[in-house]
Amino acid sequence: MHSRVFEPRQLTVLTTSKCTAACRHCCMNSSPERSETLSWEQIKDVLEQAFHECRQLQVVIFAGGEPMLLGDTLLEAIKLCKQRGALTRIVTNAYWATTRAHARFKLQELKDAGLDEVNVSTDDYHLPFIPLDAVKHAYEEALALEFSAVVLANCFGPETTLTPERVKAEVGDPPDMQLRFSDDGDLIQKRAHRGKSLILLSNSRVQRLGRGNQQLSASELGPTNPDLDQLGEQVGGCPWAIKSAAISAKGHFVSCCGFEVEDNPILDYGDLAKTPLAELLDKADNDLVTNMIAIIGPIRIMRMLQQICPDEVSFPGSYRSFCEVCSDLVSLKQNREALYRHMDRFAELVLDARQYLGELKAKGALDFPPLKITPSAAPGGPR
Ligand code: SF4
Ligand code: SF4
Repeated sequence: MHSRVFEPRQLTVLTTSKCTAACRHCCMNSSPERSETLSWEQIKDVLEQAFHECRQLQVVIFAGGEPMLLGDTLLEAIKLCKQRGALTRIVTNAYWATTRAHARFKLQELKDAGLDEVNVSTDDYHLPFIPLDAVKHAYEEALALEFSAVVLANCFGPETTLTPERVKAEVGDPPDMQLRFSDDGDLIQKRAHRGKSLILLSNSRVQRLGRGNQQLSASELGPTNPDLDQLGEQVGGCPWAIKSAAISAKGHFVSCCGFEVEDNPILDYGDLAKTPLAELLDKADNDLVTNMIAIIGPIRIMRMLQQICPDEVSFPGSYRSFCEVCSDLVSLKQNREALYRHMDRFAELVLDARQYLGELKAKGALDFPPLKITPSAAPGGPR
């Protein structure tokens, strides 16, 4: 085993593309009509490879689609992670929590398997498919069973009726419920209290990703980020690329779950049925465009390309987040081709940054600081 600069600290297993819902904002394009699902053999195999290969892997997240559709396979996968000492989380829509008793039964099974954290999604887009009562059953019973974290995830926009404030009120306005984001969208440091569940309301703004690209109106999405460049400077490279990698429902190793990147020519590194994870990890770690995203970040790459080759790129949207920019950067053929044509200009910069980050990693650093690589450093090229 050799040292990679970028490798997963957390891994999301996108267990299935099938879902009991078909939310209009779903960044994964999941729905009842889709059917790709990982088998127990596939999940076991990839988890064993991941625990062997990734020394920093600490958290395994089971998401989808709807992971609870996997039944006993999900329980077995959680048990395997528990045996390997990883923290586990599920991200679910709570369709299964039809009554309190049923919620209790299902959650007890998960608890017995070793699950640590329960994340239940609810917002205007989920409500046509999943009643709020199911969400409340899951939330209340998860608290009663003392999972280490119980999270309610709510996406909101200017026209939202089920706002974060209303979600909080619906579950009794718990005084110890913490918010994930401030009003300005900054991440708030979470405080876990010893022996008590962390109760979190993940209040994120709705994004134009996946199905949201076609189905959400401009007024639902709300204003774009006027401080996009400032965000690009502050955050630097994408904090999730490879470090928060995923296994897609077809069994591909992909960069992240920012949106459905399976089959994307850049962010999908290949099929685990054909190539061992170790090789795909190397491929991802050595991929120049992925390194640019992880080191420079999509916002600054967009600005650099607009400076270097304005006639060759198209960024038709106005943007709110890293992933919205990234989606247009890696999904639009025209932008991918411009990236490929000009990426050699970035190679030296990326290699220097990798050397620096490799040294930090050798000293034990887990999180990398944002690097000061700005478009203004790029008159005619980013060198
Ligand atoms: S947002 Fe979640 S619940 Fe809704 S369709 Fe997508 S995976 Fe299913
Ligand atoms: S910015 Fe790109 S690489 Fe990073 S999480 Fe979003 S989609 Fe994934």
